[in-house]
Amino acid sequence: MKKICALLMALLLSLSAGCGTIDPDEAQESIQVIAMDTAMIFTAYGVNSTKADYAAEEEVYRLEAMLSRTDEESQVARLNSQGTADIDAELWGLIETAMAYSEATGGAFDITVAPVLLAWGFTTDEYQVPSQAELEALLPAVGAEHIRCLGENADATVTVELDPGTQIDLGAIGKGYASDRVAAIFEEYEIPRGLIRLGGSVLAIGDRPDGEAWRVGIQDPRDPDNAEAFAAVLNLTDAYAVTSGSYQRYFEQDGKRYHHIIDPATGYPADSGLTSVTVVTDGTQGNGTLCDALSTALFVMEEEQALDFWRSDVYDFQLVLVTEDGRVVVTDGLTDELTKVEGNGYTYETVS
Ligand code: ADP
Ligand code: MG
Repeated sequence: MKKICALLMALLLSLSAGCGTIDPDEAQESIQVIAMDTAMIFTAYGVNSTKADYAAEEEVYRLEAMLSRTDEESQVARLNSQGTADIDAELWGLIETAMAYSEATGGAFDITVAPVLLAWGFTTDEYQVPSQAELEALLPAVGAEHIRCLGENADATVTVELDPGTQIDLGAIGKGYASDRVAAIFEEYEIPRGLIRLGGSVLAIGDRPDGEAWRVGIQDPRDPDNAEAFAAVLNLTDAYAVTSGSYQRYFEQDGKRYHHIIDPATGYPADSGLTSVTVVTDGTQGNGTLCDALSTALFVMEEEQALDFWRSDVYDFQLVLVTEDGRVVVTDGLTDELTKVEGNGYTYETVS
C-alpha cells in the first residue's frame, strides 16, 4: 500500500507539473482508481473529460470482474475451477490474442503459467518457494496448446475447455487490454489529449496542453520505493509505453529475492539479467495489449534474445531495457524520445 501511495503522489506531481500551462478554456479532469490490484490515474482534457474519466472507471471495474483470478465469480475463475465454461466472446478474443503472443515469443509469454504462480503464492500474496518436484509436476500442464475452443453459442458466448491441471492468468496482459478499452472510450468522447496510467501501462493521447510531449518516467529498478527515481524519461505523444520489472512484486526468503515474472520453461522467476523492460508503440488501438504481453515476454528473455526479437520486426515496437549491471539499452527508433537522467549511475547505449 505504501508503494501505491508513493506512486500516486509521484504521478500527481508529474501531472501537476504539466498542468501549469493549461489553456483556461480547456476543461480537465483527473481521477484515481484502484482496480486490478493497481493504482490507476485517468487524466482527460476537453469538454467531455469528466464523463470520459468516469466511463473509463466503470470499464476497468467491468474488466476486473471478468478477468480476476481471485474473485470466484469472475469468468476466468469459473473457467479455472470448472475446467470448462461458457465465456463472453470478448474474453475468448483476449485469450486467443494471448495464445498468439505465446506462439510469437516461443512461450516466454504464457497465460497458462497460472498454476505455477499459485505455487509461488503470487496469486494470493501468501508467498513460498515451491519444491523442484512440485514445479516439475505443474509444468506439463503449462502451454497454450492446453486451451481449446469447443464452439460458439447462440448467446454470443464461447465454450472453452482447459486440459486437466491447466489454469489461466491474464495478469500480464489485462492492464494493457484495459488501456486499449479506456483509449476506445476516450475516443468515443472525443478527448483531444490525456494521459492514462494503469500502473506500469501508460497511454499518452495527443500532446500536453503546452504543446510538449507527455513525460513518462521509467522507474529506476534499483530504487523502486522512490517514485521520482528514474532510469530514463520518455517523451511521448500518441504512444503506449508499458514496463515490466522484477521490482514490481517480489518476496524474500533466506536472503534470496523471488519476483513475479516466471519463465514458463523452468517455473522459476526469470533470471535474464534484466531488471525492467519497457515496450513503446504508437497509439494505435490494440497496441496496449501488445505492449503488455511483450514487456512480460521480453523480460523473460535475455538481452540479446530480446533485441533479436525486436530486430525480427514481427511487431512494430521500440524498447528500453534496464540491466542488472547498470545499463539502459535503447533501440534506435526511440533516440529522440528518450531523455537521460544525470547522476542516476546508469550508462546509456543505443542499439540498432
Ligand atoms: P505487472 O502486472 O506487474 O505490471 P506484467 O505485465 O509483467 O507486470 O505481468 C506480470 C504478471 O503476469 C504476474 O504477476 C503474473 O500474474 C503473470 N505472469 C508471470 N509470468 C508470466 C509469463 N511468463 N507469461 C504470462 N504471464 C505471466
Ligand atoms: Mg505485461
